[in-house]
Amino acid sequence: MTDLKIYSAQAKAKIAFEPIDANNVRMYVCGPTVYDFAHIGNARPAIVFDMMFRLLKHFYGDDHVTYVRNITDVDDKINARAKLEGRTIEQVTKDTTAQYHKDIDALGVLRPTVEPFATDHIPEMIEIIQSLIDKGNAYAAEGHVLFSVSSMPTYGDFSNRNIEDMLAGARVDVAAYKRDEMDFVLWKPSNEGIPAWDSPWGAGRPGWHIECSAMSKKHLGDTFDIHGGGLDLIFPHHQNEVAQSCCANGTTFMAKYWMHNEFLNVEGEKMSKSLGNFLTISDARKQYPAESLRLMMLMTHYRKTINWSKDAASEAIALLNKWHDKVENIGDVTEDDISADFIKALSDDLNTPKAISILHQLDGNQLKASAQFMGLLMESKASFTKFKPASAEIDEATILKLIATRQEAKRNKDWALADKIRDDLLAQSVLIKDGAEGANWEYKK
Ligand code: AMP
Ligand code: ZN
Repeated sequence: MTDLKIYSAQAKAKIAFEPIDANNVRMYVCGPTVYDFAHIGNARPAIVFDMMFRLLKHFYGDDHVTYVRNITDVDDKINARAKLEGRTIEQVTKDTTAQYHKDIDALGVLRPTVEPFATDHIPEMIEIIQSLIDKGNAYAAEGHVLFSVSSMPTYGDFSNRNIEDMLAGARVDVAAYKRDEMDFVLWKPSNEGIPAWDSPWGAGRPGWHIECSAMSKKHLGDTFDIHGGGLDLIFPHHQNEVAQSCCANGTTFMAKYWMHNEFLNVEGEKMSKSLGNFLTISDARKQYPAESLRLMMLMTHYRKTINWSKDAASEAIALLNKWHDKVENIGDVTEDDISADFIKALSDDLNTPKAISILHQLDGNQLKASAQFMGLLMESKASFTKFKPASAEIDEATILKLIATRQEAKRNKDWALADKIRDDLLAQSVLIKDGAEGANWEYKK
């Protein structure tokens, strides 16, 4: 038994985590739809559930946790992007997936145990859809297959939504072939130029929700421990995953625990592509050291909104500078060095801000091991402080040359020139720090 507790929206309380099988603790997280660069809002679930993955491995052992995070590589947004750019769909999904990996690897996000692609699971989706039809939970109409919401008396319970709320969401696409406005698509026909797979209902492609039901069943089984994703996925996506999986598998639940991260906002609005208020991870990494973006994200509890600001990033940079100074001369550390209080904080519904407040009190091996458990202090102090923000134009070689000239001026007691060089560098975002062993420097971020 561990002390791990997870907040349950159903119970409106934190409840003890008891895995279905402690030998194989299983977590599924809805991954990105690969049509464009991921923004720093998208990085939030990647980082939050990476922390959960690390914690589960700590408690149950590396070989006893299976983490599945999928790639959605079939979607109308992908088709539209390929058409717009005159590229093939495969090029768009391949390049976007590679960029996603580059971005979140840099943020210290560990690769999941399995990263399934939706398009590799079409037969599994067809099988689930067929079984839903056989059980009377779905029907085919005009090349579509729809899930019949009225066939499941408990539909809506999971997301705690009433019929009016759900209808408001469903009304966007009322089609003649739907028996009930709320019925949702499991399979749809594809027009010319759009990817299509053969199926008993004609050539077509899957709906979004069925992908996750198929990939989680294949890699984790009919039921599993934790299902995660952003708050916006509760309805309709997760509600519909639950409906499909429970009805097809004949289970009363899909995942035992559901965790939803809050949004990352900009000036009070959710960072999103459609609002155009987004900063891509790729651009953010050019301006801020990746570790500081990760820390900034973990400074807020996953169930609270993050307000993105340059100040929040600067605060994270200042903290990391301090910690890098403290562990500069510490050698290799082991899991045994991790602070017990720090793990205790994380065990309390992944209380990362509390865990960070404990890091403030630590030194030496404990600080390094605990910070590294969070995916921080992984790079050397030198590479962290010498990070060159995109906005800084002056390069390291020029800085070193100017510092040498300044040392020479100081030796010649030409204080005016020495000060001028220091001020000129500061004007170019370079901070000189005079110390016992000569001058050190860093880019001001
Ligand atoms: P999408 O590519 O929009 O399906 O989003 C991928 C993941 O990122 C989902 O889990 C979303 O809930 C999550 N997400 C999208 N925007 C934000 C945001 N601004 N803040 C936090 N999570 C987000
Ligand atoms: Zn999903």
